[in-house]
Amino acid sequence: MEDMFRLADDLGPAKIVHISSCQVGLRAVVAVDNTACGPAIGGVRMAPDVSAEEACRLARAMTLKNAAAGLPHGGGKSVIFADPKMAALEKEKLVRAFAIAIADLMEYIPGPDMGTDELAMGWVYDEIGRAVGLPRELGGIPLDELGATGFGLAAAVDVAAKAIKLDLQGARISVQGFGAVGKHAARLLAQRGCVLVAASDSSGTVHSTSGLDVGALIALKEAGKSVIDLPNANKGTINDIIGLPCDIWIPAARPDVLNKDNEWRLKTKIVAEGANIPCTLEAEMALEARGVLILPDFVVNAGGVICAATEYHGGSETTAFAAIDEKIRRNTTLLIEKSRRERVSTREAAVEIATERIWNAQRVRRWR
Ligand code: NAD
Repeated sequence: MEDMFRLADDLGPAKIVHISSCQVGLRAVVAVDNTACGPAIGGVRMAPDVSAEEACRLARAMTLKNAAAGLPHGGGKSVIFADPKMAALEKEKLVRAFAIAIADLMEYIPGPDMGTDELAMGWVYDEIGRAVGLPRELGGIPLDELGATGFGLAAAVDVAAKAIKLDLQGARISVQGFGAVGKHAARLLAQRGCVLVAASDSSGTVHSTSGLDVGALIALKEAGKSVIDLPNANKGTINDIIGLPCDIWIPAARPDVLNKDNEWRLKTKIVAEGANIPCTLEAEMALEARGVLILPDFVVNAGGVICAATEYHGGSETTAFAAIDEKIRRNTTLLIEKSRRERVSTREAAVEIATERIWNAQRVRRWR
């Protein structure tokens, strides 16, 4: 509990709810960080090794992400302590029990995250009528299938490239983590003339200075294979992608993949953060000192949550993608301008923009 207080500040967390039900073996924590902008939206993560502290940190990231995106939503996150690979019936029982336990926590709207998916959100919705990231049949917009986050990332890269006078025609991109986010970002940037020179997944890296076939890589991943199964390409280890020269480096895999021990190997002009917290603050600072333009995660990977919020408010796929494009382009422009004008890092600029929106919203809220 002491740890939880250590994490608290003026913004939150507003509420931390511990859930335990021995009948179904459910142990979970919900962190509602801040609701100044509206009810908190945030994913339900299922893993055996998550913690309440992780829930609080992730909930704060959602507060900033939702505020930066100008959504009428605060930030929250929940974690269920369990193995997501358990038998389907057992998982359904656990998720339904979790849903019932949060039925009265009206300020929290759950969504999918690591270990949960559209089907799980369908179960939650069935129990309490409140969830985002639903199956299409329940009015959901399948954001990973459509590539909502990759679409937003590509829009941010477009703005950033113009800001540093980098022509996207022929610009070299590297994508670490060729999954739902990475593959769509690669596809959309290739359509704008970029050349994919390296791609990786948990099995390794493929690279080619003359360019990889994006369509063939997507087909491989959709067939359940790895990028390293691509014929006629150079192969390397998962870490090789860090040292291969490119113009735009897109981390779309795991947290902290760039840190003080390896950031010096990166040879790029832009880092577009598709994953959440892919770079340590130290690494971001070192890269910025070398002139690399960092596009902070919670601004440029907000496509998924913008899509989820649009779904929640009854909007269509078309409305969602128009909102992603408009919001991410505007925010990327704002944060680059602010960081240049005030000589602060792009992350500091982005945090200030988001925090100011939260305080402005707080002013019109009734004290309870
Ligand atoms: P995903 O599971 O579809 O894809 C992740 C890919 O990364 C997989 O291909 C996996 O093999 C690969 N990978 C795992 N560890 C790796 C490593 N060490 N090096 C290289 N590749 C590795 O996941 P996703 O939905 O694409 O999400 C990717 C990241 O982006 C996650 O951190 C997620 O939290 C974050 N994110 C996702 C969304 C979204 O809309 N899906 C939105 C915001 C942030």
